[in-house]
Amino acid sequence: MDATLETPLTDFPGVGEARAKKLEKLGLSTAADLLAWYPRDYEDRRKVYTVAEAPLEERVCVAAMAAEHPRLSRIRKGLELVQVKVVDHTGALHLTFFNQSYIERAIRAGEEYIFYGAVEGQGRRRTMVNPIFERADRQSFTGRIMPVYRLTAGISNHLLASLTRQALPCAEGLPETLPQRVRQEHQLAAAEFSLKNIHFPQDEESLELARRRLAFEELFYLAVGLSFLKDRRGQEGAGAPVPPRPKEDFLKLLPFTPTQAQSRVMDEAAADMVSGRPMNRLVQGDVGSGKTAVAAYAGWLCAGGGFQAALMAPTEVLAEQHYRSLSALLAPAGVRVGLLTGSMTAAGKKKIRSALEFGEIDFVVGTHALISEGVAFRRLALIVADEQHRFGVAQRAALAAKSGEGTAPHVLVMSATPIPRTLALIIYGDLDVSVIDQLPPGRTPIATYVVREDKRQRMYGFVRKQVEEGRQAYIICPAVEENPDAALPGEERPALNLKAVKTYAEKLQKEVFPDLRLGILHGKMKPREKEAAMSAFSSGETQVLVATTVVEVGVDVPNASLIIIENADRFGLSQLHQLRGRVGRGQHPSHCVLITGTRSREAMERLHTLASTTDGFKISEEDLKARGPGDFFGNRQHGLPQMKLADLAGDMRLLSEAQEAARSLLERDPQLAGPENRPVWERVRQLFADTPDIFN
Ligand code: ADP
Ligand code: MG
Repeated sequence: MDATLETPLTDFPGVGEARAKKLEKLGLSTAADLLAWYPRDYEDRRKVYTVAEAPLEERVCVAAMAAEHPRLSRIRKGLELVQVKVVDHTGALHLTFFNQSYIERAIRAGEEYIFYGAVEGQGRRRTMVNPIFERADRQSFTGRIMPVYRLTAGISNHLLASLTRQALPCAEGLPETLPQRVRQEHQLAAAEFSLKNIHFPQDEESLELARRRLAFEELFYLAVGLSFLKDRRGQEGAGAPVPPRPKEDFLKLLPFTPTQAQSRVMDEAAADMVSGRPMNRLVQGDVGSGKTAVAAYAGWLCAGGGFQAALMAPTEVLAEQHYRSLSALLAPAGVRVGLLTGSMTAAGKKKIRSALEFGEIDFVVGTHALISEGVAFRRLALIVADEQHRFGVAQRAALAAKSGEGTAPHVLVMSATPIPRTLALIIYGDLDVSVIDQLPPGRTPIATYVVREDKRQRMYGFVRKQVEEGRQAYIICPAVEENPDAALPGEERPALNLKAVKTYAEKLQKEVFPDLRLGILHGKMKPREKEAAMSAFSSGETQVLVATTVVEVGVDVPNASLIIIENADRFGLSQLHQLRGRVGRGQHPSHCVLITGTRSREAMERLHTLASTTDGFKISEEDLKARGPGDFFGNRQHGLPQMKLADLAGDMRLLSEAQEAARSLLERDPQLAGPENRPVWERVRQLFADTPDIFN
């Protein structure tokens, strides 16, 4: 058939309406989509074995002749077998096909075939079940390196591969998208060659060339797009002119002496803010290193100059906590602190919005509601984003647009998740970095234990002991979608739903801790209930808080010395590290108990990694290795376009090459106005479709 890039898949032989629907689930509706659906892996089917030489129990190609007519037998309803013996000069192979009765007619006695499957051996008998096969004189899926695609129910790899093969000739019409000069300088293969070889590589070398070109291309567009973003920053002009103020006046407000690291970072932020240039600073510090004090200091500086500051937190619980602690800290100095979250009443929000507009609030704390919902500030000079990885490039760009008075607000991004270097370079390449590499004095490391269900009673005893000593404890359950028949921890089904969190808390109260004061906290509670639960726990009124991961980031109750995490294997390592950071925030020796019923060795190993180190960097690297950058940051929370081939965590060399190429291209043609650079501009625009602002 003569397909073009726009040919709908329904025009392909064998694709009816039902299949087309399934393909659409993968986002595939035209030939061009197929070509852009890169394999996730490859199978080397080049070597063709004789029956005797074929290694056992791995998928290989075997060339053999059908020695008989296939035999079809119906074992029972719903189970049909086709059996056939095939031979070569070294021996015989017995094939069995399940529920593929058409094979009876597809294989002909006396004909030569290539069979691809795993050879099993019992004694000298050789068998193979459900092999893929084709005639030896018409090979297309054997004798070569085969692509392995991501699939969906009802779409086989074989189908996708054969559709893609038919679509491949359209690649010939594909215009080259990389400027000639870039391709030459970086020795990149041509577009058509790369597309063909990424799907059906001629050999390993061609595959590597293809992969290099396509991954480079992705990183290159990413780098060009990010560089546009940075340029916008350059054009922002002056930063809000925050006047200097004696630091001692702030330190008098603090209930503790800052660590040297905190003090240094405060100075770095202050220097930025009085410099006349907009601050763009990332503060990295492990959980509990005391980042909040830095934010408070920056906000206090702004208020001193008659400016406003905004702090954005990833959850309402955290926003409320920051609100409480910042009010307590700063109100005595006359700083008016306000709270704005998405779930406040319309009237409540309206009141805060107008107070912000009229300059009656100096420091507002909130969730995303702060950037959405048309909040206008009178004199916004500072935005603090707590727990950065939910606050990427795109969001920062959106906020930069909120500056009043022709000056840009200063931006302080605070993160407790150390990011591997490559990734940091991409996401925060335009930020200056401060590190709080020191914990407040007197902290003892958190002892972490991985335990199985059989220790549950002992663990409850431990909770009681801590509470008797005057401490408090968290018990964390995974937040799982509503599921009425989910079981309690320790019972057969591991999943816990919200109702179960409640039921579990009630059961604990009744059967295990009748004499203790238990509280409960989960995401579906009303904001007011959440706030009440949180403040009851921080005041010590409740002794044990049964919660979902809403307490994951930032929640700070120094008297809590024990955290128990149910179904711990269901969390990522970085998340567990964050959760663990809820304790060990005061003077008391602290403990973290990870309960798991997992049978997976891998999961156990991950939990033991966590138990063996409190080094956030090491943990995030392990996490990244295990889950890849996408999952690591959660559902694209980094705000960056998705990469298909480029490995953001691994392709360091290629990334710096792509950045170099982007830089020199933009130096020659800053607007990408030249005709040969137009395709780049188009592609970057597509890639950043979710960040339209960057092309203003
Ligand atoms: P994080 O970096 O995780 O946001 P926080 O700012 O929440 O850390 O601080 C953790 C705890 O340590 C808080 O209870 C805070 O009051 C306390 N803290 C912060 N800095 C110091 C310090 N220099 N000395 C003693 N306690 C401190
Ligand atoms: Mg914090």
